[in-house]
Amino acid sequence: MLTVDGLHVTYGGAVRALRGVTLEIPDGGVVAVLGSNGAGKTTLLRTISGTLGLHKGRVEAGSVRLGDVELTRRDPGQTVRTGVVQVPEGRRIFGRLTVEENLRAGGMGNRDKTAKAAAQQRVYDLFPVLAERKAQRGVLLSGGEQQMLAIGRALMASPRLLLLDEPSLGLAPRVIGQIGEVITEINRQGTSVLLVEQNATMALGVANDAYVLDVGEVSLSGNAAELARTDEVRRLYLGHD
Ligand code: ATP
Repeated sequence: MLTVDGLHVTYGGAVRALRGVTLEIPDGGVVAVLGSNGAGKTTLLRTISGTLGLHKGRVEAGSVRLGDVELTRRDPGQTVRTGVVQVPEGRRIFGRLTVEENLRAGGMGNRDKTAKAAAQQRVYDLFPVLAERKAQRGVLLSGGEQQMLAIGRALMASPRLLLLDEPSLGLAPRVIGQIGEVITEINRQGTSVLLVEQNATMALGVANDAYVLDVGEVSLSGNAAELARTDEVRRLYLGHD
């Protein structure tokens, strides 16, 4: 289980991006974090993945733990080795490298060749389109395929917990549906998922539990299906009057 407890994060000491955030991701669970622009969603992911320092952010108080392992203020490499891997927002793949080279880059930290081959096969089974295009350069893929490649690259590190930052951003509804299905399948295969989304329909459809962030604080939390029925979530995040 990943436990975030009373997390306070600032940028430059002045911008208070997170103000006492507490949440849990049970082993084998899918947890969604919703919230509007600037709510602190990306900051939460950066803190969990250990990349906060690269963005001049600082943990002022609180902690992030995976089971008994303290992750607070760890660097990204240590965090990946613990089994926590982030798919960055904006699908930052290597455009000049082929699909297969992108995947190999994701598996670089893994010295076990058999495990690496199995991880690659898992990615090609999840995303047959990537297998078809394995010799093609990343830049030639569609937006949806690039998102799939970004997720596939993260899976090459065989994560226990996958962190997804707005995977639906800029994609057509049909493709968003496919991404949602793949998240469910990845989870079914044993990987826990933290899904940060502005697309509440997709996120609440695949998540077990959900949290709503509002200016750095958790304003609502609970079972995803129950949250989807609350007036506040329907009005603010699901587009109902
Ligand atoms: P978005 O959906 O726009 O990415 P978000 O919910 O992910 O929003 P964050 O990106 O975590 O929100 O931003 C939370 C707050 O921290 C905002 O006020 C933002 O302007 C600020 N912030 C984020 N990154 C930095 C940074 N590197 N330096 C200074 N302030 C930052």
